Amino acid sequence: MIKITLPDGSVKEFEKNATPMDVAKSISEGLARNVISANFNGTKVETVTPLTTDGSLTLYTWNDDEGKQAFWHSTSHIMAQALEELYPGVKLTIGPSIDNGFYYDVDLGEHSISEKDFSAIEAKMLEIARGKHDYKMRAVTKAEALDFYKKQGNEFKVELIENLEDGTITFCDHDTFTDLCRGGHIPNTGIVKAIKLLSVAGAYWRGDENKPQLTRIYGISFPKQKDLKEYLELLEEAKKRDHRKLGKELELFTFSQKVGQGLPLWLPKGAALRERLENFLKKAQKKAGYEQVVSPHIGQKELYVTSGHYAKYGEDSFQPIHTPKMDEEFLLKPMNCPHHCEIYNARPWSYKELPKRYAEFGTVYRYEQSGELHGLTRVRGFTQDDAHIFCTPDQLDEEFKNVIDLVLYVFGSLGFENFTAQVSLRDPENPDKYIGKDENWEKAENAILSAAKEKGLNYVIETGEAAFYGPKLDFMVKDALGRSWQLGTIQVDYNLPERFDLNYKGSDDKLHRPVMIHRAPFGSMERFIAILLEHTAGNFPLWLMPEQAIILSISEKYEKYAEKVLNLLENDEIRALVDNRNETIGKKIRDAEMKKIPYMLIVGEQEEKDGTISVRKHGEGDIGTISINEFSDLINSEINRTLKKF
Ligand SMILES: [Zn+2]
Ligand SMILES: [Zn+2]
Repeated sequence: MIKITLPDGSVKEFEKNATPMDVAKSISEGLARNVISANFNGTKVETVTPLTTDGSLTLYTWNDDEGKQAFWHSTSHIMAQALEELYPGVKLTIGPSIDNGFYYDVDLGEHSISEKDFSAIEAKMLEIARGKHDYKMRAVTKAEALDFYKKQGNEFKVELIENLEDGTITFCDHDTFTDLCRGGHIPNTGIVKAIKLLSVAGAYWRGDENKPQLTRIYGISFPKQKDLKEYLELLEEAKKRDHRKLGKELELFTFSQKVGQGLPLWLPKGAALRERLENFLKKAQKKAGYEQVVSPHIGQKELYVTSGHYAKYGEDSFQPIHTPKMDEEFLLKPMNCPHHCEIYNARPWSYKELPKRYAEFGTVYRYEQSGELHGLTRVRGFTQDDAHIFCTPDQLDEEFKNVIDLVLYVFGSLGFENFTAQVSLRDPENPDKYIGKDENWEKAENAILSAAKEKGLNYVIETGEAAFYGPKLDFMVKDALGRSWQLGTIQVDYNLPERFDLNYKGSDDKLHRPVMIHRAPFGSMERFIAILLEHTAGNFPLWLMPEQAIILSISEKYEKYAEKVLNLLENDEIRALVDNRNETIGKKIRDAEMKKIPYMLIVGEQEEKDGTISVRKHGEGDIGTISINEFSDLINSEINRTLKKF
């Protein structure tokens, strides 16, 4: 007999070789019907894998992320089989699940695939799925595995197998199809009821531009037709909100092939938006005791060797910049932290002067492969709303709480109400993996946990997920479409103070190492604005809107009055503009709606006579005729509702 521990802590006894499916059946018929994957002692297993030792078992259904991953990965096998049948000679490489669906990278040889071919592939896949074929794992020797793929002439799989240890290699069979695979499948193909191929793109073998180009086919699948329908509707809405599309329509930013890929150019309205966001944060930071610093865009190679960033980013980063005569080497700055360490190092500090909080909207550069670039979310140059706090270990607690307050203020002011936090702690079983004293780690971890608790955060603890240099807290926000984004990181660091030999004089008159906190509520201005665009569909909070109101004159007779209204609004610091074009009022309203300007102020004969404006709200319609003062009050109270005092 073996003892199986379930997630609720209960222990049940089973015959040796019982499977996760047997365990599910012993709990309930309903669970057995729905269980699609499992994890045994921290390793993915099949629902039919015989369990031979005592251990902890977690069962997953479609409602768990792990279940979805198994579901989508299993569908990639079905797609691979369909491709082999439809495109003889196709060479398969890898086919993982991703956040939303799966892909398979294939070498199509003579063939090519476009979106026109999707429906035929989907039909083939559904036909295979309906066969209810079991997924069966089997161990093979390295020689057998190599032989199998050499016969097919598939050099990609051969390369993968060459790098595997003999004795660890497994194949997965279903129907007539076999694939090299580590496992993690649903019980059978019949569970897959709805399939949609989403896109086709080029991808390099092993992500290396010097290696052969493959075709990547993306798809997604569901256990119910209804789930697919809902997903496609969401996708449609996401397309409308795509920040690249909205950025163009709202004239916020652009890209130029001449300037270079992944290097955004901010247009006046976008630059003003950024500036408003920066000022908003600067103001709050000033109140929270931060000081602004400025550092250059490049630094000597040595600086990044000291910080360890060269080892991390050096190879994949941009090429060094050599000075003409002395042949000094500089690098584009990948991180602001090393610069801030040297700012701290500019003079000695006493414990009485700490914490020091240095903030900078620092632009950093990192090389991303052209295939990885995406609008503003993956770029090669971006500006972090960075800050580094240097404090004593005893101050960590207080500093952490203050940073959380700031992050929550930022989220609240920008309409992100749905968020969770993740606390990443060290793995207590591998203390050697981490730098820094044991007692300091304990202090830091307790500081994070007590701050998260005190601030009432909805958080999960991930043991073993801390970086080697310190524990951290990450915020995940859910946008209006229910998609999760990582925003706002607070990270404790024991490593850089060591590498840069930072110190302060303690009350004992001896030198001590300060602790460093890295934090960035937005993360990067570029990525944040992209997320905000998609979250709000371009309807930013009123305080942030490039234009808050537009004055629409009914005809040219009222141009003067329109200008007068504009003047009065500007006196009240309301951002407005006038549309005096020789167009009908209907056309002017439609255009203003397109530009998502929150308020349209219509002026004609009656309004001029009474000194009023007729107000229309974006997406809502007429809200009545009021005086200009009343309108100013309306705007200010709306702003005060969202933009609370920090
Ligand atoms: Zn597989
Ligand atoms: Zn940093």
